[in-house]
Amino acid sequence: MSNQLPVFIDPLRFAHRGQTVSGNVSLQGMERLSSYLYDNDGEVSVTLEFGVDSQEVYYMSVALRAHVHVVCQRCLQSMGLLVSHESLAGLVKSEAAIERLSSEYEPFVVEPEPVLLKALVEDELILAMPVASMHLPEECENEVLDNIPLKDEPELNPFSVLAQLKGRQD
Ligand SMILES: [Zn+2]
Repeated sequence: MSNQLPVFIDPLRFAHRGQTVSGNVSLQGMERLSSYLYDNDGEVSVTLEFGVDSQEVYYMSVALRAHVHVVCQRCLQSMGLLVSHESLAGLVKSEAAIERLSSEYEPFVVEPEPVLLKALVEDELILAMPVASMHLPEECENEVLDNIPLKDEPELNPFSVLAQLKGRQD
């Protein structure tokens, strides 16, 4: 894969040209993403495809894939995670134009300034991050939680509770 990603992109111009760019971006320096990560080691492979659809909508499709290190919520140690994400953005020049966009597109308001590609990729990665991650029990260093004696309690599932309530009403 080529690694000639531009630093800045001009989405509307790229769409007009039907341009595709792909390559790798380092996770280093992604400060906002850091709060989701154990460390910023690694990189994200990204492909951006730009074009104009039959309705004259300028669009940008984003596909990314990254091996990241997150914090396991059980043992607080590093845990490898594969994150992949795809999105399809409809490029609009104003907030008002968002309403005319069909629902298949996420609105992306294009500012006059060029877009910093790394910031765009960081935004997309943050959207793709799971809320919480944990090792599989056999891979986790912390077994304390597994040893808490909850296993004797009967499993309470919403349907059995509902059945009990119904039974009481009858
Ligand atoms: Zn763990």
